[in-house]
Amino acid sequence: MKTNFDAIIVGGGLIGLSVAYGLARRGHDCLLLGSSDTDFKAARGNFGLVWVQGKGAGFPAYADWTMRSSELWPELRDELQERNDRSLALEQDGGIHICLSEEEFEARKAQLETLYSHQNGKFKYEMLDRKALLEIQPGLGPDVAGGSWCPHDGHVNPLYLLRSLHNCFLKRNGQLLHDAEVFDINHGEGVFDVFSRKGKFQAPCLVLAAGLGNRKLAPLIGLKQPVRPQKGQILVTQKIDKLIEVPMTLLRQTAEGSIMIGDSKEEVGFDVSSSIDIMAQIANRARRTLPILEKQQVLRSWAALRVMSPDGYPMYDQSESCPGGFAITCHSGVTLAAAHCFDMAADIEAGNLGVGLQAFTERRFDVSTH
Ligand SMILES: Cc1cc2nc3c(=O)[nH]c(=O)nc-3n(C[C@H](O)[C@H](O)[C@H](O)COP(=O)(O)OP(=O)(O)OC[C@H]3O[C@@H](n4cnc5c(N)ncnc54)[C@H](O)[C@@H]3O)c2cc1C
Repeated sequence: MKTNFDAIIVGGGLIGLSVAYGLARRGHDCLLLGSSDTDFKAARGNFGLVWVQGKGAGFPAYADWTMRSSELWPELRDELQERNDRSLALEQDGGIHICLSEEEFEARKAQLETLYSHQNGKFKYEMLDRKALLEIQPGLGPDVAGGSWCPHDGHVNPLYLLRSLHNCFLKRNGQLLHDAEVFDINHGEGVFDVFSRKGKFQAPCLVLAAGLGNRKLAPLIGLKQPVRPQKGQILVTQKIDKLIEVPMTLLRQTAEGSIMIGDSKEEVGFDVSSSIDIMAQIANRARRTLPILEKQQVLRSWAALRVMSPDGYPMYDQSESCPGGFAITCHSGVTLAAAHCFDMAADIEAGNLGVGLQAFTERRFDVSTH
């Protein structure tokens, strides 16, 4: 196998694959180094929302970036489906956030008003009372006080997405090595030497997209990525006839008919065990939202780890000490897949993260810069 490439991408999750495919489709000769199957993989355990509402209420650049990705999603879907001849099961006909009390309703209203003001009216939403919500989604339980409706929201099958990106990357002559954990990186004379369990590889451009692994890898190119794991548990029911009209923040029905019920936010370190108490809390909220779910059987459950920055927003950085080196992490890699594939890859090709992405630097946590 050859050892020299235009770009090396470390991490075969959704972020690594989105950027790798984005570079390969622009004609670059890319190598993607993935680690072992037993690693933590948010890309294989997520909920599958392509979600805009509520994202970036405290961070306008993130609101813009999320909206941008949602707008690019149909283009990504069309391109992947055409090249791969497989559906991604993307639906972007809007989504609902359910509020189970007046307090939740008022808090949601305030959050979305802020988001609306960040985006000069570009962000569309409506706060709906219970009666209006029932017209969109029949069968809501008596606890549902109302909710927010947003036409930009949608969902996708995240495993089909991962598979399509993978196949399309290979079709664009990308090379992919599994079990190739990267343990060291050197930089000199404009070239990165990347040392992996499958050998040493070289490229003038290096993208670290190793999820929780970026914490260790980023300092090797003069960057910091202080990510931490945040556990999320998900329940999946048997397949049933169409019950859920549009995806909700915590409930969606897949194209095949299963109901996915999500998800928790637990600060418990590198623990991916399922726990009965949290599963019961998740199921209880779902039952209060749609009481008919009480009759459905949960067939599967799992836990996966989100890749979280200190404030929950993406961290995108380019190295000053090692030009051509980038480190990228975020926790909404499904939603942002289109922006990573098109815009982020174009910036990486240009050798510079554009002005719009500079707000995401990890240096925002450095108190000395404020
Ligand atoms: C419960 C849950 C629900 C979620 N729901 C949604 C949702 O609805 N919508 C949404 O947009 N996002 C959602 N997410 C987030 C989304 O799944 C992630 O943002 C996305 O998967 C991107 O992950 P990643 O590629 O950064 O990390 P990962 O998928 O964890 O991939 C990182 C990869 O790097 C590899 N790696 C690590 N270290 C090394 C090394 N040293 N050398 C080589 N390779 C290495 C690992 O093997 C792994 O394959 C959810 C996440 C969770 C956990």
